[in-house]
This record gives sequence, C-alpha cells and structure tokens, in this order.
Amino acid sequence: MQRRQFIKGIAALAASYHLPLYANNPHYPVIIIGAGLSGLNAALQCQQAGIDYLLLEAAKDVGGRIKTLSHLPGKPEVGGLQIGTGYGYTRYLIDQLGLTLQPPMQFERGQALIIDKQLLSVDQWPSHNRNKLHASEKNLHPGRLLSHYLEQHPALDLANWSHVDNAKYDIPLRQYLQQHGASKQAIQLIEHNFNGLSIAEHSTLQLVRNQQSRKLSAPGFSLVKGGNQTLPQAMNKALKTPALTEQQITEIDSQANGYRIKCNNGNQFSCQQLIVTVPFAALRNIAINSTISKQKRHAIDTLNYTPISQVLLKPSQPFWLDDGLPASHWSNSLVERVFALKDNKGQIVNLLCWINGKNALAIDQLDESQCAKLILAEMAMIRPASQGKLQYLARHSWANNPLQGGAYAYFKAGQVHNLRATLGHSEGNVHFAGEHTQPELPGMEAALVSAMHAVDKVKQTLT
Ligand SMILES: Cc1cc2nc3c(=O)[nH]c(=O)nc-3n(C[C@H](O)[C@H](O)[C@H](O)COP(=O)(O)OP(=O)(O)OC[C@H]3O[C@@H](n4cnc5c(N)ncnc54)[C@H](O)[C@@H]3O)c2cc1C
Repeated sequence: MQRRQFIKGIAALAASYHLPLYANNPHYPVIIIGAGLSGLNAALQCQQAGIDYLLLEAAKDVGGRIKTLSHLPGKPEVGGLQIGTGYGYTRYLIDQLGLTLQPPMQFERGQALIIDKQLLSVDQWPSHNRNKLHASEKNLHPGRLLSHYLEQHPALDLANWSHVDNAKYDIPLRQYLQQHGASKQAIQLIEHNFNGLSIAEHSTLQLVRNQQSRKLSAPGFSLVKGGNQTLPQAMNKALKTPALTEQQITEIDSQANGYRIKCNNGNQFSCQQLIVTVPFAALRNIAINSTISKQKRHAIDTLNYTPISQVLLKPSQPFWLDDGLPASHWSNSLVERVFALKDNKGQIVNLLCWINGKNALAIDQLDESQCAKLILAEMAMIRPASQGKLQYLARHSWANNPLQGGAYAYFKAGQVHNLRATLGHSEGNVHFAGEHTQPELPGMEAALVSAMHAVDKVKQTLT
C-alpha cells in the first residue's frame, strides 16, 4: 500500500473515532509544502533523483495560482496566463509531459477606450477633448504610457540589477514619473490601471528590470491546450506519490533530526529536509518554531503581493454591435480592463474583467451579490449598450485567498537590495522555492526553475 493511501486510511479511521492524529508522525527524507508549479516540480525532481518525499497541499486541488475555470465557456484563465516565448524550462516540461501549446486565439483583438466615463475608439483618443496629455504622450494608447516612461531609464546590468549601486533607481514609480516630466493625466492613468497596489510605493527599479528583460525575448505568448491547469494536473499525475491534498500546514517545528510539520486537521509529519514553496504572504500564517535569520523573517513579513480580482460576465446579446466598438476595453473606471473571450467558433462567449490594486481590494470587501450589482451597474454606466445584456457569472480574488495573499510578489521602493538577497536562501535544512524566490524570471518559469535549485540544495545536504 502506498504511504499516501495508508495516511488517508489512518485519517479516515481516526475521524470515525473522533481521534486526533497526533500519534501519526511518519518520517520522510523530504517534505514539500505547497503543490503549485514549484512544489510539483520539486516533487518531480526528487522522484527523478530517487529521493523519497511527501508533497502536502492545503487546497483540494493542485495548481495554486494556475486556475482554469473549465466549467465556463471560453475556459477563462484567472491565474497564470501567458507562457512567453522565452519560457525555456516551462516549454520543455510541457513537451516532456506530452502536452501541447496553443496560440491565444481565444482573445478578441482590439479594445475600446473608456476615459472619465466617455466611451471612444483608440483612433479617437489622440485628438479627443478628454486627452490632456503632453504633446509627447498624446498619441500613445493610455496602456502604453508606463512603458513609454520606463523605456527612458538607463540600461541596467540585468545580471546585477539588485546590486546596492542601483539603490539610486529603487525609488517610488510616482517619483520617477514626476522626475521624467510625465503629465498629471499620464500619472493618473498609469496609477489607475497599475498592475500593482500603488505607484506611490512600487519600486521603479523592479519595473525597469522586468521591462528590459522582456525586451530580450521575442513578443508573443501561448497557452496550454485544454487550459493552463492541465499542466499542474499532468505534473501531479506523473508523480508516483501525488500530492496529499487538504493538508493545511499551520506549524513548522525543529526537532532532533529535522522538522515536524503540523496540519490544521491534526496530522503531523516529520522530515529531515523541508522545501517550502508557499508565497510569503501565506507563509506568514504558518508558525515557524525553528531558528530563522532576522533577514529571512523580515523578508517573510514584508514581501508584498499584488491584489488582483477578476469578474466574469456573460453577454446575452452582442451589445458591442450597438455601439460599434470592440467588446474589450481599457478604462480608468472601476472595471479597469475587459477582455472578451471567444469559443472555438470565434464567438464571444464571456467577458473577463481584470481589476487591480485598490479597486480589487474594494470589491473584495463586498459579498457576491453586492459585487455583482456594483459591476453590472458600472458596466451599464460606462458602456450603456451593455445595460440589461450582461449576466454576472463568477469572481475570483487572489488577495482574499489566505493560501496566496495576492497574485505575484513585488518590491516596494527601497526594498530591492536587502530583500532580494535573502528570498531564496536556505535556513538550516529548510529550503525555499516558488515564484517569489526567483524575481529575475517571469512567474511560471520562476516557480518551476526555483524548485530545481531547491532540490539541488537537498541533494547536496541529504545524508
Ligand atoms: C492573475 C494572475 C495572472 C498571472 N499571469 C501570469 C502570466 O501571464 N505568466 C506567468 O508566467 N505567470 C503569471 N502569473 C504567476 C504564476 O501563476 C505564478 O507565479 C505561479 O503559478 C506560482 O507558482 P508557485 O508554485 O510559486 O506558487 P503557488 O501557485 O501559489 O503555489 C503555492 C501552493 O501552496 C499552497 N499553500 C499555501 N499555504 C499553504 C499551507 N499553509 N499549507 C499547505 N499548502 C499551502 C497553495 O494552496 C498553493 O497551491 C499570474 C498569476 C496570477 C494570480
């Protein structure tokens, strides 16, 4: 009998007698916490190296921040979406698992603009009376303003971007924009649709690094055929010992020969080496009773995560034909961006509303029916043709989920040099992996590659 089945059997038995499982404390060479892309890849790497492991996941399903809503038309991705041309390891793994990539044909091309509640076409914008931008900004799509200013930054040595010499660039984005003469309206438009919490705090250095490194890859991206979530599912299937789900870790204690892990259902497990892949925002909810450096504790406590919430709407009629503009939009309204998703026949089947930062946190405060009411009312105001022609389907909040705490990690101004140095450092035989430990790589690639580094460290130290 596999150890996983054995544990489940014991758990069922204990539950039927209302017994806690504290007596059950199997010991493993390696325990991996979290079965997102990084935890799953850590398990695959252990399996390949012949290292016995246990992979523990709090949620019912594996995948973490990869989430395909397969039950909805157009199979919207509400988590990790774009697999860029430069994602070498991700693409290799997809191929190894027998999966295939497909172009992102499901998205409508083109966008309407909605600025200060005025609906207009992209072509109207440069000469529109709402356009109060400086002459050098006037012809730009509002969504291009940020990259326009970041492109003016001196080139960084990307291999040493977090070096203390670059601390002079680690300033809040708002300050950088002001220094570069951005107009008041440009700053407001950038702030409103910013893929972070606030331009008053976000590190310019990190944004510049990301922009300059993106330029090194060819443009374009793909998705996994059948939905991105087929990737973590296929990884889990390839494991001889798949993830043990619904095991939320609440405590990590050091003990004589390693670590003891406690779950909120009473289960306990022991190991010699530990790989922790949970985002630091979620790790803050786990008590760590083991020697841990001040720097690491500080990084766990202060690393920031971008709030993102998505709302899905279904059009009952093609309202965009009535106002003659694309169904998708870019706006400075509450419903910041809308992406129209198509089915296999090219028909628009739903609208994915993408809401960042403070607006995401605001709608996260609302219950489902309040949220539906607010979003539909806002759509009716900014896009009058949509009134009565949209149905609320679902929403997904990343900041509200205590297992994630946000969409992706970011640095505040002034944090880069100190925090970067400590993110992936091991503490004793506790190793860290996950998107946040590899900020030089884009999300999914970072998660997968970081797991290889963590398992390399395990191999060096396992006795
Ligand atoms: C909206 C959105 C859009 C994105 N777009 C892109 C994109 O276009 N391209 C790209 O490359 N990346 C993108 N990303 C980022 C990418 O999805 C992530 O970087 C990647 O999936 C992170 O994997 P991970 O394994 O590091 O973390 P996670 O996927 O967060 O995995 C951590 C796991 O730990 C589990 N866990 C947490 N706490 C506990 C606990 N106490 N006990 C046990 N288990 C626990 C969680 O349930 C989770 O399964 C996006 C992310 C989001 C949210």
